[in-house]
Amino acid sequence: MLKVVVLVSVFFAAVFADDSDNEIDSRSVDLSYLGSAIFGTPKESSGKKVEEWTENSPFNPEELGEYAEGDILFPEQGRNGLVSKATRWKDGVVPYEISPYYSANDKQIIKKAMEIYHKYTCIKFRERKSSDSDYIAIVNGNTGCWSSVGKVKGRQEVNLQSPYCTTKVGTPMHELMHALGFVHEQNRWERDDFVSIAWQNIKRGHEGNFKKAEKGSTDGYGVKYDYRSVMHYSPTAFTVNGQATIIPKDSSKNLKMGQRDGFSRGDIIKINTMYGCPNKPPGDDPDAIAGAGPGGNGSGGGGLLSFLFQIVN
Ligand SMILES: [Zn+2]
Repeated sequence: MLKVVVLVSVFFAAVFADDSDNEIDSRSVDLSYLGSAIFGTPKESSGKKVEEWTENSPFNPEELGEYAEGDILFPEQGRNGLVSKATRWKDGVVPYEISPYYSANDKQIIKKAMEIYHKYTCIKFRERKSSDSDYIAIVNGNTGCWSSVGKVKGRQEVNLQSPYCTTKVGTPMHELMHALGFVHEQNRWERDDFVSIAWQNIKRGHEGNFKKAEKGSTDGYGVKYDYRSVMHYSPTAFTVNGQATIIPKDSSKNLKMGQRDGFSRGDIIKINTMYGCPNKPPGDDPDAIAGAGPGGNGSGGGGLLSFLFQIVN
């Protein structure tokens, strides 16, 4: 009997060892540039700040948090050691649970965000089965909008405080993209070639939110710096005086930063490349936003937008 138990234990240990080896590979995202700032506890004070947000605010609710870069958080409890690499979800399958403490509207926005992933990528969000040990729990805590980056073992929370983080479909899309393993666009190592950071306009103590990744630590998957990414901050993120904190070197890009209407073409390419999806991004208009419905303000080529409306609606 003892022999059987030992054999079974060895078998499971081997399976788990293989599993984790496969999850970390050379294309993982290196989070070491964020250091220990990614660890912390969810804060109600961040929830209060998010309550200042309205649809007309010149920034996004996820830019109001007191976590690393505003919305990156690995809750401390139960962890030991530093997470330096983001890991991927096996085969792009992400089991999830949604808190019952959401309105029908909130749930609709969250589901819509997932549907947009399903339309343009091979990522599969599906309800958690009892056999799924690793999963995301989408919760409505009064601690703002935040997520950890990549897959964490066990239950990991994606906090979407209603109604602030569930107003624009791009906010759940943004947090889910963190959970898949992506970081913020404006902190790419080569960002200084594309934007200037106006340090004098940043709220004191928030300068660390604009720290660049180390060269070679993150992968743009062949997509050049993308002002329209759903992972890009707003021009006035963390401003102390209402003036811009991120200034594009090409002024025509100014209005495009910080959109939360859907995926940019670059976002789709990056997700599909990281996860080895066979999908190709729709159309060839680099300015189109995939997921922006007729009510959204994503603008792009008429032909492609009509195509998107047909398949989104
Ligand atoms: Zn973020």
